[in-house]
Amino acid sequence: MKRALVTGGAGFLGSHLCARLLAEGYEVVALDNLYTGSKDNLAAFAGNSAFSLVERDVCEAKTDDFGAFDEIYSLACPASPVHYQARPLFTALTSVKGILFCLELARRDGSKLIHASTSEIYGDPLVHPQPESYCGNVNTIGVRSCYDEGKRMAETLVADSIREYGVDVRMVRIFNTYGPRMHPQDGRVISNFAMQALTGRDITVFGDGSQTRSFQYCDDLIEFFRRYAAVGKSGIREFFAARKLGAPVLNAGNPAEFTILELAQKTLAAIPGSKSKIVMRPLPSDDPKKRKPDISLAKELLGWEPEVALDEGLAKTIDYFKTRI
Ligand code: NAD
Ligand code: UDP
Repeated sequence: MKRALVTGGAGFLGSHLCARLLAEGYEVVALDNLYTGSKDNLAAFAGNSAFSLVERDVCEAKTDDFGAFDEIYSLACPASPVHYQARPLFTALTSVKGILFCLELARRDGSKLIHASTSEIYGDPLVHPQPESYCGNVNTIGVRSCYDEGKRMAETLVADSIREYGVDVRMVRIFNTYGPRMHPQDGRVISNFAMQALTGRDITVFGDGSQTRSFQYCDDLIEFFRRYAAVGKSGIREFFAARKLGAPVLNAGNPAEFTILELAQKTLAAIPGSKSKIVMRPLPSDDPKKRKPDISLAKELLGWEPEVALDEGLAKTIDYFKTRI
């Protein structure tokens, strides 16, 4: 039986990944301190002897406490601006110490490591859409920096661990991803708008709503993870060396781009009878003006494209939030 470790396994994406790995016959260990994750997300695996949860801060985790894994997925890190900004030093350290722990474990046992990086690497991008070769436009001292720079440092640690020790790592720059099991009070835009529209509260559009995002449904991302993990180490090395990228890094996102105002209108349209109205609130500082992935490399290497359109994914997500009111 193959063994996988998922740090951040009790979170929104981590729990979907655990479910997929269990369905594929893996033994799965989730490591999570439950900062933004929840045991509720793992309820479906209670009683499954192939699953276990280690409740621990990844910054305190010791490799000696763990046996060998075939695959390690590094997801531990708060992802919502509200939560990562509430504890900025913790956020930055989680990114750095979390990936160091995973790199050490992967190096010791020759495991494959798949690291959840982010489109925030690109900051407020000056290139649109964003290809992996774009180095980004990031403020080092703003309120988003704890997350952005923590994740950028994690990418550097990965790239140097590959160069120095030949560790088998693949990085995924994840663009805004949503779906069932997002926390209803998560603070991110899809959960906020859906919960507001379902409970008749004002829908809070920040700024004038002209900023854009590209929304990816969670199932598309999990499929991406699995295809990326399935590529052999030499295939990965050759593909990225031929494209002169310093390390294996792929964008994962849905290139369909929407303004935040359009998202608010779509959310209202998906909930007929909602009494909510759209209101404008101040734009948080350093909020990226636009974001859209160039996914040509993922198409080429993995034959992957997102399949779930926003209207379909939004309807499934709203159905989930109805159960959480
Ligand atoms: P999430 O907040 O639901 O999940 C993060 C999980 O990590 C939670 O279960 C949390 O309790 C756990 N965690 C946080 N700090 C920890 C620590 N120090 N030790 C142990 N566990 C810790 O968020 P998510 O959307 O599922 O994101 C998962 C990963 O994907 C994160 O690394 C995030 O940066 C990345 N990502 C997500 C998105 C997205 O749109 N969902 C976009 C880009 C990147
Ligand atoms: N946003 C909004 N209203 C909300 C929450 C977020 O208008 O209640 C905006 C936010 O300013 C940003 C976009 O929606 O422009 C996406 O925000 P989110 O926090 O989901 O993720 P980000 O991409 O900013 O990390």
